[in-house]
Amino acid sequence: MTKSFSAKPPSDPTIFDQILADQIPATKVYEDEYVLAFEDIHPAAQVHVLVIPKQKMISCADFIDADPSILGQYMKRVADVAQKLGLNSSGYRIVFNHGADGGQTVDYVHAHILGGQALGWPPG
Ligand code: 5GP
Repeated sequence: MTKSFSAKPPSDPTIFDQILADQIPATKVYEDEYVLAFEDIHPAAQVHVLVIPKQKMISCADFIDADPSILGQYMKRVADVAQKLGLNSSGYRIVFNHGADGGQTVDYVHAHILGGQALGWPPG
């Protein structure tokens, strides 16, 4: 069972549930039994791909009680996707936004892979 970081119930299905169900289009870059990776619709870098686990979690707060093997498969795929995107030698950033202060806007956990250019630090 998924848990929300906020008191109000999450809207369900989210836009990412709909992408996963092929109900709305997305530019997919990788898919297997564990994850789906697709381009962000408003890229914040030259390369900006989102990776979602097929076993739904709402935010990274759900990692606390998640099956470590599922989490491991997820994070392995995030690194695999970054490698497939050709970012290993130049470098990249993985971001999980959590909750309001973190700027999370979609209640379906997603790793942002950002790269293809030098990225500023620290984020705002
Ligand atoms: P968050 O702010 O929740 O960490 O990131 C949500 C991300 O989802 C944003 O970068 C936003 O551009 C992206 N996004 C929102 N709606 C869509 C959509 O319909 N399709 C795709 N591909 N990305 C989306």
